[in-house]
Amino acid sequence: MITDEIKTSNLSDIRFLNEHDIGQEMYRLVSELYPICRSITGNGFRETLDIIKDYIELEVHEVPTGTEVFDWTVPKEWNIKDAYIKNLKGERIVDFKKNNLHVVNYSVPVNKLMPFEELKSHLFTLPDYPDRIPYRTSYYKESWGFCLSHEQFLALKDEEYEVCIDSTLEEGSLTYGEYYLQGESEDEVLISCHACHPSLCNDNLSGIALATFLAKYLSQISPRYSYRFLFIPGTIGSITWLSLNEAQVYRIKHGLVLTGVGDPGNFTYKKSRRGNAEIDRAVIHVLKHSGLEHAIIDFFPFGYDERQFCSPGFNLPVGCFMRSSHGHYSEYHTSADNLNFVQPQYLADSFSKCLSALNIIENNKPYLNQNPKCEPQLGKRGLYRAIGGQAEEQVNELALLWVLNLSDGEHTLLDIADKSNFDFDAIKKAADALLKHGLLK
Ligand SMILES: [Zn+2]
Repeated sequence: MITDEIKTSNLSDIRFLNEHDIGQEMYRLVSELYPICRSITGNGFRETLDIIKDYIELEVHEVPTGTEVFDWTVPKEWNIKDAYIKNLKGERIVDFKKNNLHVVNYSVPVNKLMPFEELKSHLFTLPDYPDRIPYRTSYYKESWGFCLSHEQFLALKDEEYEVCIDSTLEEGSLTYGEYYLQGESEDEVLISCHACHPSLCNDNLSGIALATFLAKYLSQISPRYSYRFLFIPGTIGSITWLSLNEAQVYRIKHGLVLTGVGDPGNFTYKKSRRGNAEIDRAVIHVLKHSGLEHAIIDFFPFGYDERQFCSPGFNLPVGCFMRSSHGHYSEYHTSADNLNFVQPQYLADSFSKCLSALNIIENNKPYLNQNPKCEPQLGKRGLYRAIGGQAEEQVNELALLWVLNLSDGEHTLLDIADKSNFDFDAIKKAADALLKHGLLK
């Protein structure tokens, strides 16, 4: 178990907590959230936030139906109790209670007998993956439907069926969760994830777990930046948040959208629209020095909420951190995106990589060499190995020379790390040693 009492001002310390335990805890949260039928509004979303509240002090916001948010309007609230298709024998052959993916999310209520011919146009399957249930939504067009495995579909007969969706679509509100962590500076790091998908693990729950655990552990240190975590419904949630918080958006200096971080695939980082934001450089640095295969992709206007954060009117420095990118794994938006697909070790690895990137952001500053005319004599300060011996402090000598040479007030530690090809931690360690000996300011 991880102690709740990690009091350190240094983010790099929490990076070395037991990764195995963190992965297990994140997976436990994913498992707890998995059965809930979430949507972009409604009680499933509220229930999800209630569970996250066991980990962090979330503030829950309710935005009424009909609120104008830029070019959009907050929709009616959707809730569902039950849904099924029964055959003539009264057997539930498609049952929402077995898997909430069986109902097209946002289906309007229906309760009637109908022939197979009529029912057929409301059924969705995946013929290429005949044992999987697809995930479908109909948020902005009032309709109804069922999703089922193609195997189930082929077993249907040309007879009459009882079709029931016990849902409501009424005036209500859009719910979202926000957690704000005050740092030394008013400048903010935005961490956002979507929490609007029903029983899908990698797509939505893994991002929720990562955001929750980053928030939980960052709250135990005194960070330089303030952190704002958003648990929002995809698209309409970020549009709503940006619309309500437009006046504060200038504080966001760095940001990440977290999604699809629990699968076995390689890391993928989608850069912000700016392409060279500090957060882009930090994540790329971490992935490059991880020695793992990974992909860096340019911004494109499709995907998750980075689409809104990076719309031209905001153009915020927000990238998207993923393992396999959406649409590039066959489990995506199907019942196969389940508790087997997501695994603790991948969640833990994502946690550690994100924290390393945030550690760079937290510590990335320019310094000034206090002895810029020729090199200072490092040996007499115990920073340089004596002949045949070891340096007193385990700092890489070449890293020291790079930091001294480039600490002209113009280069940050990340600039120096990238230029010298050293890992950020080695450069940071060298800078700390030089600071200690008064050679940097
Ligand atoms: Zn999705």
